[in-house]
Amino acid sequence: MAELKQQTCHREVAEEKARRSTGQRHCLRTFLPELVELERTLADAPAAVCTRVIERIAVKDLALPVYRVDIGAAGPDKPVVLMVGGVHGLERIGSQVVTAWLGSLAERMRWDDHFNELLEKVRIVVLPILNPGGMFLNQRANPSGVDLMRNAPITAQGESTFLLGGQRLSPRLPWYTGEPEQGMEPECEALKAVIDEMLPGRPFSLALDCHSGFGWQDQIWFPYAYRRRPMRRIDSVMALKLLWEQAYPNHRYVFEPQSAHYLTHGDLWDYFYKQVNRQGAGTFIPLTLEMGSWRWLRKRPRQLFRMEGFFNPLVPHRHQRVLRSHLLLMDFLLHAAVSHDNWLPTGDQARVLREAALTHWYREA
Ligand SMILES: [Zn+2]
Repeated sequence: MAELKQQTCHREVAEEKARRSTGQRHCLRTFLPELVELERTLADAPAAVCTRVIERIAVKDLALPVYRVDIGAAGPDKPVVLMVGGVHGLERIGSQVVTAWLGSLAERMRWDDHFNELLEKVRIVVLPILNPGGMFLNQRANPSGVDLMRNAPITAQGESTFLLGGQRLSPRLPWYTGEPEQGMEPECEALKAVIDEMLPGRPFSLALDCHSGFGWQDQIWFPYAYRRRPMRRIDSVMALKLLWEQAYPNHRYVFEPQSAHYLTHGDLWDYFYKQVNRQGAGTFIPLTLEMGSWRWLRKRPRQLFRMEGFFNPLVPHRHQRVLRSHLLLMDFLLHAAVSHDNWLPTGDQARVLREAALTHWYREA
């Protein structure tokens, strides 16, 4: 059985590679090394790592795959951890961090009994490069010029930030929302299909979507982006934040609602959070990791002369530090999902944590 699974998994990646001409392979090594690295990681992965192509994005003569990787327990009652990277094509480091974590999981699955026991209690779903077309073209938006993080059918309540909050004027300008009422872009629909299949009805699920390019510090954002009022399960977010800070006091992430920075139209995680909540009684916490890229620029101002320099650490030692520093957070989230019963607040505790969250994050609102 294990052997069959391995063949299926490896065949998907092998077939994908075999479909390409020599010229296309060379092109990918140059313009989309993240995909080459991901495929190498998947081809070497052990049997229990299951890989599928869930969408293909046409760019030039290429049909770039959107990969979905599944690891862990199959039962519908198990918690889910969803890791996403590469929503914005310029923020390559997000995909690299997710692929690095995937590679680390795959290696540990070979020998770590303790870790394999953990995997029997949780389902991990990873979409390391959601927007391969944008990444190939070295642009934030997808090949149609749509900013995927502005493309959900949800409108900001109150004043969204001009342009940055999402605009319908032109795909030639940044932060173009597209026409979400006519259906979301194929990349967003692919992610939605994964969420619709995996999350509703689960006791607990958690998502981490990895971005870069805003702020001095690494931040963890949670909904909402479309309004300043708190989400319903804000007590769980506060509980998770405290759990992290008590276990790892020397790590610094700033937890904040995205609305503390700016309001946007079409935020995918606002949309999915509301959708999942509507369908089930479990808890879903969608988080966005926003790696603070401004300090990479401060340390090396000439990065300003390269577009990718705004969003990615270009010095090797800094790049390596970023790749390793978030692994702990991702492992923590995995453990927190497995043991959610031990910390998810209920009753009075939930009420106290909600009050604390309102004071901490929403005093001004
Ligand atoms: Zn981003």
